[in-house]
Amino acid sequence: MSIKLGIIGYGGMAGWHHRNASKIEGVDVVAAYDIDPKRVKAAEEAGLRGYATLEAFLADPEINTVLVATPNHVHKELAIASAKAGKNVIVEKPVALSVAELDEMVKTAQDNNVLFTVHQNRRWDKDFCIMRKAVEMGMLGDIYTMESRVHGSGGVIYGWRAYKQYGGGMLYDWGVHLLDQILFFMKPHKVKSVYAQLFSVINPEVDDYFKVLLTFDNGMSAQVEVGTFCLKSLPRWFVCGNEGTLYIEDFQGKGGITRIRRMAKEVEPEIVDTPSGPTRTFAPQPVETKEDVELPEVEANWTDFYKNVRDAIDGKVELIVKPEEVRRVLAVMEAAFKSHETGKVVDMIED
Ligand code: NAD
Repeated sequence: MSIKLGIIGYGGMAGWHHRNASKIEGVDVVAAYDIDPKRVKAAEEAGLRGYATLEAFLADPEINTVLVATPNHVHKELAIASAKAGKNVIVEKPVALSVAELDEMVKTAQDNNVLFTVHQNRRWDKDFCIMRKAVEMGMLGDIYTMESRVHGSGGVIYGWRAYKQYGGGMLYDWGVHLLDQILFFMKPHKVKSVYAQLFSVINPEVDDYFKVLLTFDNGMSAQVEVGTFCLKSLPRWFVCGNEGTLYIEDFQGKGGITRIRRMAKEVEPEIVDTPSGPTRTFAPQPVETKEDVELPEVEANWTDFYKNVRDAIDGKVELIVKPEEVRRVLAVMEAAFKSHETGKVVDMIED
């Protein structure tokens, strides 16, 4: 069956979906609904059937799949209405503002026997796929800690994202992507605890900086950090294993791995004078004991998301972005907000 996609909310991200989903065989974008008449007109000018009411949009018999691409606070009601109309449902991230909201959405989809998924497209980011492949290939040995961060310096948050009532702020906006990547990567390990700090550095109402520290049942830790107003940037990924260290600077996957060839056999009994002062532990590894290796190559394409949804609707493949996975991410985000409010570590009990 080909996907006949109708988009709710024909704004910035919807335009991206329209251009990119249309490139995929078996996916046709056919219609859009928006509360803003200017955006309905824009959809019509881009070749879609434009609708000014939800009822008329959902009554369009050609649409078999709806993509909700509105501000976050109305995802729930629009996804539920779409599922009740018998349409498969794709929701933009963050799928909802709480686990309770998501549970209602998923139950409605199940009751109406339609597919439900979320556009967690950053599972297909090149930098993430490279990091994942390097670790899976054992290039770092056993990893014990990882840092995922996005630093930018623009700072000012635009439009609805700057207001709490619309589900704004960076934990909802970017945190949901970065936490989804970490939980997807760490599967099957469970989150044991969450500690978070959020700041409103230059945007008064919502978080424009956050740092979340997760611990897992295998003893590993992962730190996720987003700063919108950092005038210097740290690398996108920094991952440490007992045989190597990986860093990836950017979304294009520029970076490398430094691996140990052999441990320096003999440590000089004399303390070594280093730039950090007299120390043995921090003396640099002798050059001949380590090697710089290239990061693995990967094929990574956001549009693979649509192919997976198309084939999952037909029952040919397993759905990649599963409701239970996005539920775990929302639970971690709820714990992060709670940790920020209380200043305490929040213990997680995952089934
Ligand atoms: P936007 O403001 O550019 O567009 C939102 C559109 O929704 C507007 O045209 C607005 O008129 C319309 N709208 C608002 N309320 C509506 C309602 N009740 N019913 C119908 N239409 C309504 O926002 P955006 O940047 O396109 O973000 C939309 C969604 O996409 C958000 O959930 C955001 O988090 C997500 N997003 C995802 C990615 C990604 O990489 N996955 C990137 C950007 C945005």
